[in-house]
Amino acid sequence: MDEGRELFDVAVIGGGPTGMTAALALAAAGLQVALVAPAAGADPRTTALLKGSVDLLTSLGVWSDAEAAAAPLRTMRIVDDTGRLVRAPEAVFDAVEAGSETFGFNIPNDALNAALSRAVDRAANLARVPAKADAIVPGASRVAVDAGPWRLAARLVVAADGAASATREAAGIAVRSWQYRQTALVTTLSHAAAHHDASTEFHTPAGPFTLVPLPGRRSSLVWVERPDVAERLAALDDAALSAAIERRAHSILGAMCVDGPRGLLPLAGHVAVRFADRRVALVGEAAHRFPPIGAQGLNLGLRDVAVLARTLARARAEDPGDDAVLAAYDRGRRGDVTMRTAAVDLFDRSLLTDFLPVQVARAAGLYLAGRVGPIRRFAMRQGLGPATPLVGWR
Ligand SMILES: Cc1cc2nc3c(=O)[nH]c(=O)nc-3n(C[C@H](O)[C@H](O)[C@H](O)COP(=O)(O)OP(=O)(O)OC[C@H]3O[C@@H](n4cnc5c(N)ncnc54)[C@H](O)[C@@H]3O)c2cc1C
Repeated sequence: MDEGRELFDVAVIGGGPTGMTAALALAAAGLQVALVAPAAGADPRTTALLKGSVDLLTSLGVWSDAEAAAAPLRTMRIVDDTGRLVRAPEAVFDAVEAGSETFGFNIPNDALNAALSRAVDRAANLARVPAKADAIVPGASRVAVDAGPWRLAARLVVAADGAASATREAAGIAVRSWQYRQTALVTTLSHAAAHHDASTEFHTPAGPFTLVPLPGRRSSLVWVERPDVAERLAALDDAALSAAIERRAHSILGAMCVDGPRGLLPLAGHVAVRFADRRVALVGEAAHRFPPIGAQGLNLGLRDVAVLARTLARARAEDPGDDAVLAAYDRGRRGDVTMRTAAVDLFDRSLLTDFLPVQVARAAGLYLAGRVGPIRRFAMRQGLGPATPLVGWR
């Protein structure tokens, strides 16, 4: 099968933020890596990277090149704006209480992807294959990958090709998927008042409306609404959309002015039934997807990467695609992914329901997280994200 194919320890399929980080982490650990990825397209989103993710990017030499575009997140505020009978009091979390200067940093996805791409260009042991993978064929000892004119083989393939992952399908891994009748409108804006490094998540009956700081008097917006409402908002001119955002934000940041491109992202959820099989390991949205609540998605994907690198290093096996290594990776990710997916799903659905007992439970949960010391500290530690240090492979 390897005839005419260049052989790598690992081929990472997909050059989004998870794929590029995976390629860097595994190459830094001493594996020979191919990154099979066409150039990333523009992305209007920003990502709130929690401390564990920033530490990972720092250890890979990416963060020093990216941080000028990022704003620190020192305070996180959750406001119950459901207008319902049972409402939670406002919950405010300060990073200093959790023993850290910041919860993390918010960065435009384009700036993060550009810094990752420069790091890929500088990295040793890492070859970029600038094409989409057209065929991925797992075999007993290798996976064959065809990408445009390139033909390669790898002992392990990392599927980082996003929600509709063809690599996952090639490995025969099914997903449990579900839909939300919600669409996220994303953009960036400038505003009159300072944000003081605080993000604010308003919980509305249609979903979260979240303002996250960017450098200066600017913020990014994720406004989750019913699909028809989101489409109507996205069609407004800049002045009308700015006014609608300011109204929804109760003018907490004063007058607002939309200053970035807009994106409409329909929300959906899925989780893979296995995170690895047949020499293929899933990371990022190839493995899990859920609504943008509490800045979890990419942070979870970067933890996939750190755990995969650590699992390979610990196994010290000659073959990184070995069944035992893949089983250990699957076990290593199951709890974190299942817990976060269920929590975000439950929280989102609890906003949408009119069922009073669920509203009471949600309000009580927020009250406890905001007011009761041990639960509050637990919530903040979860916000910082579990640390997953990298260790070397060879
Ligand atoms: C509105 C919104 C806001 C969000 N905010 C946050 C946040 O604040 N914090 C957070 O942690 N997460 C956030 N997320 C989640 C986060 O954006 C995603 O988890 C993250 O973008 C997923 O990255 P990925 O690399 O796994 O997938 P993607 O970004 O989808 O990348 C997949 C890549 O694979 C490539 N590809 C596809 N097929 C092939 C192929 N056959 N061959 C080669 N390449 C291929 C694609 O071109 C793409 O470049 C948010 C999500 C949404 C919808």
